[in-house]
Amino acid sequence: MSHEQGGEGGEEYLFKIVLIGDSAVGKSNLLSRFARNEFDTNSKATIGVEFQTQVVDIEGKEIKAQIWDTAGQERFRAVTSAYYRGAVGALIVYDITRRMSFDSIKRWLDELSMHCDTTVARILVGNKCDLEDIREVSVEEGKGLAEEQGLFFMETSALDATNVQTAFEVVIREIYDNMSKKIL
Ligand code: GDP
Ligand code: MG
Repeated sequence: MSHEQGGEGGEEYLFKIVLIGDSAVGKSNLLSRFARNEFDTNSKATIGVEFQTQVVDIEGKEIKAQIWDTAGQERFRAVTSAYYRGAVGALIVYDITRRMSFDSIKRWLDELSMHCDTTVARILVGNKCDLEDIREVSVEEGKGLAEEQGLFFMETSALDATNVQTAFEVVIREIYDNMSKKIL
């Protein structure tokens, strides 16, 4: 997290947030929905790390949320430590229609805790909630795991935009609150 004095508006904040979770759970589409309000049906996982910066306003402060997407590294379980370095927030994503991706969450949480300290703001995200007919993971199971692990929780759909904005904002808000506590 960096914090610098800006021009007229006072402080500027830059929060690094990472998206993690199994391949094809919808991480890239969550990001494009949040940052550009777009959904991309052809999933081409480019190799290499990418991020997008989105400016949000909290209590009149300009927050730059720099959101990192694995862009395919996770397919080989080869997310680098550079990816995690300096992250103060994380969205840990599974696909509600694929139980395997839910079973992987604990491994992703372990990996996150190896690279980031315990104050990292975390939300568990069950994506593709538009696909109710082929759901494999219940809302209760998602909530239960989140409670057990001390995470925020939300089901989202990058396809129809359900809760996408909110999921990112919950993390940004939590980072902001954590930071305020440290400063005050
Ligand atoms: P990533 O590998 O985690 O980045 O996943 P992608 O964003 O590339 O998405 C993988 C596939 O799931 C693509 O075919 C997307 O079109 C599809 N997808 C992503 N999000 C949703 C969603 O919310 N609902 C539905 N129905 N499909 C989704
Ligand atoms: Mg992707």
